[in-house]
Amino acid sequence: MSQHPELPDPSFTPIDRDLLAALDADEEGMLEAQDAIYTNRDLDLAHIKAVGFDMDYTLAIYQKQPMEQLQYDLTLDRLIGGAGYPNEIRALKYDPTFIVRGLILDKRNGHLIKMDTHGRVARVFYGRRRLTEDEIRESYKNAKIRLSSTTFASVDTLFSMPEACLYANLIDYFEAKKKEGKPLGPVALPNTAEVQLLGHLNTWKLFDDVRNAIDDIHRDGTLKNIIMADLPAYFVVDPGLPLALHKLRSSGKKLFLLTNSFWVYTHAVMTYLLGGQQREYASWRQYFDAVIVGGRKPRFFTERDPFLEVAPVEGAEQVLGEVNAERFERGRVYQGGNIEAFERMAAAQGEEILYVGDHIFGDILRSKKDSRWRTCLIVEELEDEVKGSLSSGGTIEQLTAIDDRRHAIDDLLGQKRALLDRMETSIGLGNGIGAELRPRLEEAAKRLRKEIDVAKRSLRALDREAHEIQEHLDKHFNVWWGRLLKSNNELSRFGAQVELYADTYTSKVSNFLRYSPVHFFRAPRELMSHDVAMAKRGAMR
Ligand code: IMP
Ligand code: MG
Repeated sequence: MSQHPELPDPSFTPIDRDLLAALDADEEGMLEAQDAIYTNRDLDLAHIKAVGFDMDYTLAIYQKQPMEQLQYDLTLDRLIGGAGYPNEIRALKYDPTFIVRGLILDKRNGHLIKMDTHGRVARVFYGRRRLTEDEIRESYKNAKIRLSSTTFASVDTLFSMPEACLYANLIDYFEAKKKEGKPLGPVALPNTAEVQLLGHLNTWKLFDDVRNAIDDIHRDGTLKNIIMADLPAYFVVDPGLPLALHKLRSSGKKLFLLTNSFWVYTHAVMTYLLGGQQREYASWRQYFDAVIVGGRKPRFFTERDPFLEVAPVEGAEQVLGEVNAERFERGRVYQGGNIEAFERMAAAQGEEILYVGDHIFGDILRSKKDSRWRTCLIVEELEDEVKGSLSSGGTIEQLTAIDDRRHAIDDLLGQKRALLDRMETSIGLGNGIGAELRPRLEEAAKRLRKEIDVAKRSLRALDREAHEIQEHLDKHFNVWWGRLLKSNNELSRFGAQVELYADTYTSKVSNFLRYSPVHFFRAPRELMSHDVAMAKRGAMR
């Protein structure tokens, strides 16, 4: 019921079922949770003039297993062929389940770390072995982890999964060698005083070697040539994608592509995914008002590189020269550039632009920090995350109930401790109360002390129970790391980044098809701790 009698509740006439079926729509607009677009900050699509898309892992969804396996195998080849690693490492198997986004790699200790939003270390693996709580405390108790330091690397795109897994596998491999007293080859540290500190395995160099190898295979064409030779093996064709783009275009929005991939690869991949899918669009380029390849994000947002024009010919990277035009022209292909020139040439700026990308740093965080562009983060893992939450059913409620009890006991304990404090002070000073009350006061303090002990014990028992349920809950998600967006009761570091920098987030671009092009994405009302307390009081009254 409306709170305001003068405002009638909206009412709509039901639409015939067969009409709805023909439209592939349903009356309530009830979306499957994994197909929804989620909102952190209000976003009115009606106010968006231009929608930009990243390509890799955004418009172009890779077949996870073949793509990661290919990168892994090529990196192994490169380590063996070019960095002096033994042939034996070829036996190390890729495990597609082992790495999740948002992990931190500690090069000094060779650790993979999951952190929460407050920078607390929640889980750590050394190779494939999970560290105990004591080991974690030992490694990270003193210094705050400074993520800007070169000691740490972030696993923040899906491109990073294979390298992080290979790193862990190689740690195990060399640790086994160390135990057997065998030489460590390229990652042996010289026998100096420092060695005593770090152990004999140079985990930092191991990281650099793996990173350089994977960087090489991306840059020198090795990886992309194999992919381009068999596109169906490496990409998922989403039939909703051309429709979603078409719908946005038809509503009068300008679309643009802004990818770090260069022309030849972009053309091959986009032709496979969008070419000839709809009659109105003979070429994939017709979906876009501006096509920018080799965009060098995040640099695109921070520096002032010029736009170059590239010849749109198949199979060749041919730069035609610097662009001095006032506007982008349909049909031309641009390379490089920067946000300032972009906004001028696109005749759209700041909050009129929505950028959709998968890279929390290069696509989302940078555009948010250096511009007022609105953002949508593609988190393809959201499908599993949502399914995990649905299948874990009552467990999350169970945890919430325990948490509420813990809060209640904490509050009560706080009050009783304060009271005991006053009693003990009074007894100690021997003033403020009459002598006749003193035995009763001592008796009451004694009882209170016991009751406080009992409450403390039940709090500890609840902590243990919560921990067990938490571990059980995590099994519905990634078996090694638990939930992607959460860490115990807090947001994970990745979850916090999503919340802070992505105005909206969803599992795939074609989910836009489910919303009107003038949809108002409304964020849930944010509550601070005192709001929650007030709401609870209100409910109790
Ligand atoms: P996007 O379309 O902006 O997501 O661009 C991704 C591009 O970055 C692809 O062309 C990838 O091959 C490339 N890429 C991803 N990881 C690396 C790397 O480690 N070194 C060099 N290029 C990379
Ligand atoms: Mg990308």
